[in-house]
Amino acid sequence: MNVIARNKSTRVKQLRGPWRITFDTNPDTCNYHCIMCEEHSHYRVHENRAAKSQARPRLMPIELIRQVVEEAAAHGLKEIIPSTMGEPLLYPEIVSAIHEKAATFDIDKRQVITNGYWTKDKSRARKIAKLLASSGVNHVAISVDAFHQECIPLDMVRYSAEALLESGITNIKWNPCWLVSSDAENRHNSKTRIILKELEDLSIPISQGNVVEPDGRAMSNLSEYFERKRSFPGISCQDMPYLNRLDDIQSICIEPNGDIPICKAFTIGNAKGSNTVGILESYDPYSIPEIKDILNKDVQGFVEGSKKMGIQLEEWGYYTICDLCCSVWKQLDAKS
Ligand code: SF4
Repeated sequence: MNVIARNKSTRVKQLRGPWRITFDTNPDTCNYHCIMCEEHSHYRVHENRAAKSQARPRLMPIELIRQVVEEAAAHGLKEIIPSTMGEPLLYPEIVSAIHEKAATFDIDKRQVITNGYWTKDKSRARKIAKLLASSGVNHVAISVDAFHQECIPLDMVRYSAEALLESGITNIKWNPCWLVSSDAENRHNSKTRIILKELEDLSIPISQGNVVEPDGRAMSNLSEYFERKRSFPGISCQDMPYLNRLDDIQSICIEPNGDIPICKAFTIGNAKGSNTVGILESYDPYSIPEIKDILNKDVQGFVEGSKKMGIQLEEWGYYTICDLCCSVWKQLDAKS
């Protein structure tokens, strides 16, 4: 739901800019099709699915990125990440442009999350590593796990990591994707542990990684690991990965067209032609009755209240509270 038009209130809460911005530079473009891929940002699932069916993959204009970094730099911005969906280093020139700009403003954490396989050509891989270092990248997280290594050769990932180390980037981490949890015993996690062991000689630390979400390709390939529920008592928006309380937006994602979604259901503005910090400052969640409802009663309370308006819920339940919430939203929107 786009709340831009409904967000006209005199009750303005003074917010700082975001401390982290994820630029969805190329969410539709990857060189692999891992079986657990969510295939889109944690934000805006439904819109992104529709966009993916369009002929041209989306690519974020460099000018928009520069504009947003300039606007947010003086307002507490501490971390920048190019696409977490799609492989950002298929477009090294975009990644380097982001971080060059970030470096000029001394943004602390200039990060890249990558599958580690950017090209078959080793000399080009070294050039990309050097380009990242010279543009100011200071954190790299490389995805290595049973899922990525089903299609991505580990020797090339190892080569990329060595090239990054040689280029002078020291803050590199392996970033595994776990199934269910990092402690869970299943064949995928066992394989991930073996892969990480094989890389031990590089002395690269292992991050806490992430956990496969019930979304995208994971839904077709790993559905037996996910459970549907009819209610989610005690779970709030901010308990979902990468999301904030709806009245305390601290980190944002910018989509290739400039949209700023704050979760799968809501978009608060478009950065193209508007100041990103200004959009955050004028976002007043309590002026939007449905968001106010969620904040005051929690999502489960909002869903229960909506039932009185004839909203029908799926009998077999939902995988996440956001799926449940989006289903309610869609129906409320259709009624309005
Ligand atoms: S539960 Fe709804 S409002 Fe809350 S984060 Fe998820 S989609 Fe957004």
